[in-house]
Amino acid sequence: MLPWTTYEAMYEAALNQPEEFWLSAAQRITWKQGPAMACRERTDGWHDWFPDGTLNTCHNAVDRHVENGRGEQVALIWHSCATKEQQVVTYRELQDRVAGFAGGLRLLGVEKGDRVLIAMPTMIETAIAMLACARIGAVHVVVFAGYAGPELARRIDDVAPKVIIIASCSFQGQTPIPSAPALNDALALAAYRPQACVIVQRAACRTSLMPLRDHDFHTLEQSMPVEPVVLRSEDPLYILHTSGTTGHAKGIVRDNGGHAVALALSMDVIYGCEPGDTFFTTSDLGWVVGHSYGVYAPLISGCTSVIVEGGASASAIRTLCHEHGVKCLFTTPTQMRLMRQESRHLSEVILPALARVFVAGEYADPTLLEWARSYFRTPVVNHWWQTETGWSITAHFFGLPEREPVSLMNDIGRPAPGFRPAIVSSIPGEQCGEIVLSLPLPPGCLAGIWKNGAIRVPSAYLDETRRYYRTFDEGMIQANRAVHMLGRSDDVIKVAGRRISGVQIEKIIATHPAVHACAVVAIPDELRGQRPIAYVVLDSEAECMPSSEEIVARINEVLGRWVGLKEVRFVGRLPTTVSGKITRKRLLVS
Ligand code: AMP
Repeated sequence: MLPWTTYEAMYEAALNQPEEFWLSAAQRITWKQGPAMACRERTDGWHDWFPDGTLNTCHNAVDRHVENGRGEQVALIWHSCATKEQQVVTYRELQDRVAGFAGGLRLLGVEKGDRVLIAMPTMIETAIAMLACARIGAVHVVVFAGYAGPELARRIDDVAPKVIIIASCSFQGQTPIPSAPALNDALALAAYRPQACVIVQRAACRTSLMPLRDHDFHTLEQSMPVEPVVLRSEDPLYILHTSGTTGHAKGIVRDNGGHAVALALSMDVIYGCEPGDTFFTTSDLGWVVGHSYGVYAPLISGCTSVIVEGGASASAIRTLCHEHGVKCLFTTPTQMRLMRQESRHLSEVILPALARVFVAGEYADPTLLEWARSYFRTPVVNHWWQTETGWSITAHFFGLPEREPVSLMNDIGRPAPGFRPAIVSSIPGEQCGEIVLSLPLPPGCLAGIWKNGAIRVPSAYLDETRRYYRTFDEGMIQANRAVHMLGRSDDVIKVAGRRISGVQIEKIIATHPAVHACAVVAIPDELRGQRPIAYVVLDSEAECMPSSEEIVARINEVLGRWVGLKEVRFVGRLPTTVSGKITRKRLLVS
């Protein structure tokens, strides 16, 4: 039973008595040593959550449910849209496999604090590898499986992983794409050398293991099981790279204690889920939603989590919801638009167990939400997220007894407990502007940025007073606290809910010797929300000019096809300010 019936009562409690609020929220998880303090400022000015608490996230996500009699409950259901395979794993089986693989990692020399890079598609083994790292205090770094050698190499050099784990292939549609070439390229390019690689052999495309370097995942799983180690709340659980304004992907660091508490609270108050419920996220495990709501939150809360490899069709989503009695579905507006398109050819859907559907990652227009509500015959709402925050900044709260009518839930909702948004604008009195968040951020948000082997204050996100976190999203706040989002204030582009920096694409295009200058901007896309378009100025004296197809192919090769670059416009010059800075916004109107 929650102690509040209304949103205001909950939000005010977190605002006015933050220590009491968060120490009480912390009781949702199992601690080795329970915290007596909620929040403490670090010497570098950032904040640690539950600094005197100790715990293990894997124990919270797996072992404690077995100890509490949920061993035979299904923990994970995996469906591959590429191969149509399905795997179902109970909490007891998950415990055995995770403990065994953790033992295997130990045999490879992985210890607390070491980084393990996981470049795999969404598979049961991906979740097992993540949880095994959490079990022994190693820091997992999950990298989207579609990255080519150079992007992978950059991440290898950034985090210096002791071990790299890959699957023998991933899939583009139904076509298997072997992973070994990208791994070998990356290792040839990277300055850092990992100690070992671990390969999940898949039937569709097995790979030969390189003697001394490679180990078989399923053999390592048979190792002597190891128990969860005791970690400090602020010890890092994972690093996840995301595109920022600078064009370099930043390693967002997440802690153990704050993360577990925030996710457990969110399952109660936002998603209204209880132990035993089934939660389904369509997100790839390589993105933040996959981390938080594919693996950690549902498992910490004793739910069953459905995860999928590859883009799920409307009929696949319906079938999975139906077969597994999904209560809560979490997807993207892009996925919803695809479903709307496909649903024209599908019969009516009746999913009695489905209680609510959430979307996030990009703008969802009210007509899309309306369509989804009538299609699923259930509440469908949008909420606002960032990789950096790890859970939703604003949301609609289905766990609270009193809430507004769903027909009014067309915006991104009101702040989750502990998030204190404000608007900053250079125009006095202007109600629209960049949305900033007062520090400290609530538990579960970034514990820092990974840089040169250490966790640093995320200075690039701080305003000049260093009292606010900059979201780089623009919007406005209503009197009832509801937030309206208008879009990004920087060059980040959201393609089908996934984030890519225009500058990151520009840097790759600019490596061609004939490219004199280039600029990448976002244009609206009917299905994917946005897609990038590149404006390129060629050096008229260069010997070998690239075609637009070559540029597109290069981006697909380095960053992956999901980036969706289809159009390259060759122009004579780019618009600039008097100081020579490219004015990307002017390209959008040209
Ligand atoms: P990511 O880190 O990939 O989750 O991307 C975060 C960014 O996605 C945010 O800064 C927003 O620009 C955008 N975003 C996330 N959720 C929403 C939403 N519900 N509505 C509009 N934009 C969103």
